[in-house]
Amino acid sequence: MASLFKKKIECLKGIGEKRAELFHNLSVYSVGDLIRYYPRNYEDWSSPTPIKEAEIGINVCIRATVGTAFKVGFARGSGKMICKAMAYDDSGAVTLLYFNNKYISQMIKQNEEYFFFGKITQAKSGLQMIAPTFAKVSDGTSIHPIYPLTAGLNNRIVTDAVKNALDLLPEKVNDPLPQWIRDKYNLQSLDYAIRKIHFPLDSDELYTSRRRLVFEELLVLILGLKFLKSNTKEENGIVLQKNYTDEFLSMLPFNLTNAQKRTIDDCLNDMMNKRSPMNRLVQGDVGSGKTAVASAVAYSVIKNGYQVAFMVPTEILAQQHYESISKLLENTDIKVDLLTGSLTPKNKKLAREKLASGETNLVIGTHALLTKDTEFKSLALAITDEQHRFGVGQRSTLLSKGNHPHLLVMSATPIPRTLGLIIYGDLDISIIDELPPGRQVIDTLLIDGKKRARALGFIKKNVEEGHQCYIVCPLVDESENQMLNLHSAEMYAETLRNHTDFQNINVGLIHGKMKPADKEKVMNDFKDNKIQVLVSTTVIEVGVDVPNANIIMIENAERFGLSQLHQLRGRVGRGSEKSYCILVSDNTTHDTIKRLETMKRTSNGFEIADEDLKLRGPGDFFGEKQHGLPEMKIADLGNMEDLNEAQMCAEEILKKSSDLSEDEYKGIKAEINQLFGRVGGESLN
Ligand code: ADP
Ligand code: MG
Repeated sequence: MASLFKKKIECLKGIGEKRAELFHNLSVYSVGDLIRYYPRNYEDWSSPTPIKEAEIGINVCIRATVGTAFKVGFARGSGKMICKAMAYDDSGAVTLLYFNNKYISQMIKQNEEYFFFGKITQAKSGLQMIAPTFAKVSDGTSIHPIYPLTAGLNNRIVTDAVKNALDLLPEKVNDPLPQWIRDKYNLQSLDYAIRKIHFPLDSDELYTSRRRLVFEELLVLILGLKFLKSNTKEENGIVLQKNYTDEFLSMLPFNLTNAQKRTIDDCLNDMMNKRSPMNRLVQGDVGSGKTAVASAVAYSVIKNGYQVAFMVPTEILAQQHYESISKLLENTDIKVDLLTGSLTPKNKKLAREKLASGETNLVIGTHALLTKDTEFKSLALAITDEQHRFGVGQRSTLLSKGNHPHLLVMSATPIPRTLGLIIYGDLDISIIDELPPGRQVIDTLLIDGKKRARALGFIKKNVEEGHQCYIVCPLVDESENQMLNLHSAEMYAETLRNHTDFQNINVGLIHGKMKPADKEKVMNDFKDNKIQVLVSTTVIEVGVDVPNANIIMIENAERFGLSQLHQLRGRVGRGSEKSYCILVSDNTTHDTIKRLETMKRTSNGFEIADEDLKLRGPGDFFGEKQHGLPEMKIADLGNMEDLNEAQMCAEEILKKSSDLSEDEYKGIKAEINQLFGRVGGESLN
């Protein structure tokens, strides 16, 4: 099998240079790639419908004998060539029609029996089927693969190419999974699975071959990630001499929760008592107080004489952290600085000089920290906030700025546990599973546009009592509103400002198209309660912390993912005031309502993430390709059962062999290299 990955697809019958290029669009270059190019779906032809019982206008499969030879004619008007033949079964007959297909009479022969798949329509002359797909009954397969396609390649071309590719397989394909694993987990051989996944005879064969391939793919992924982890374990980290946490806590205006304390202990233990650098993920729901944890950990590192970098995904967040941490450390000798893309070139240069000279102890910044000209004198700890917004690559770029610095990544986007273990497989995990005391449950309401006026009245009342409010719209301005009929922040703010009820209320506007300095001013005014109602886009989604805000109203709520809504909702309920999240949607489809009802039902981020994953699939769940994982060919990262099983097996294998050096794991190792080689990861030797 391995050698087939070296064989170009051009060697297959029917694939010339041009067609090969089309296959390249599907990332299929070799025969091996093609064999691993699995169907996206199947048409079940296993129980054909009698012609007479077929429903008109719906795809059906019939099993019929071709009764006449194809007759060629030309359509009146268009002049299209039409080939016509009659096919029958015990119940009735149907006319087959193909247009502009000279070869059809060579492919479908009189007196032979075929499966035909397509829609049956009622013409004046009787039942007909236009250009149905077909297969000879004597060829046996009755479940037909449907492949993901690209312009210029149809399903038949891909199917034929796959058939030819499978013919090149050796009599017995070597199996990368040792026999004991196949026995224990009840898995088919690769030989069987690879053939049957394309051409199963029944649903049973399809199920067992799919299960085997999914298992293998996840196992290879999980083992590969575990190896990335053990690679970094071999490096020597910077060992801290002293723990300054108590000193830091005495400056904090509140007492930490036990979960926060435990997390800080985990980190200090990593940095003081271990040879290898810390590699830790802190996962805590919105509002659980991750910033305080990061600050405490940074404090000890700085007091031990080193520098710390704190990277966040947005300018607003950088600014906010910079201000709150500077204030907290105001009576210490620690120098905090800010480095973001929006600084003037002169200030950026200055900030970088202070980092290189060691004058700055703690820098808070955005992606600007990653550029080549950012150098540190003695970086010992890299922190990333809202990790899901960064790729695995960016994390390591930040790390490369120091000599094996410690790494602390923080995320609020809860990822179901098993998936989290896989994505962050190279990290140890601390979970902050406790909110600071005094927080109240946020009331979540789902309303339609007719109740908007009432909701605005409720907001007005709360503002008059001294509170503040966010209103979130999906669009920035009307130019984005191409017939979608969605709310734009600009228009919304304008409308509110002209609203008689809002004359004594300051309505602010913030969105991603504004200049950073303007955004900063608006955020500061909101924080200082100079603005009471802030109309915004999702720029406030992550991290923003204004405890006096107690209402968030989200327009066109159906446009947002559940995890995103959960993040947005996390902007309120950060103080001890009763808080509200008002979801507005006029979309009444069953799916939307079901999704939004989830938000009412639970405030548990993990549960919401699970639901989101189920409803939308992992692709959408992560927005873009933000998890930095290689693309899966058949496995669904949202399927927890499959993940759990593969995870269990991976652990079992590693217990038997920590480096997979035994011969029986040669095949798995080759697959790990292939999977991670493609995403530019290091390869296993
Ligand atoms: P997140 O985990 O979402 O990043 P933050 O770090 O922004 O949360 O903290 C949310 C709010 O809770 C902030 O206003 C912060 O000052 C406050 N906070 C954090 N920890 C505690 C605590 N132990 N007791 C009281 N308030 C806290
Ligand atoms: Mg935060």
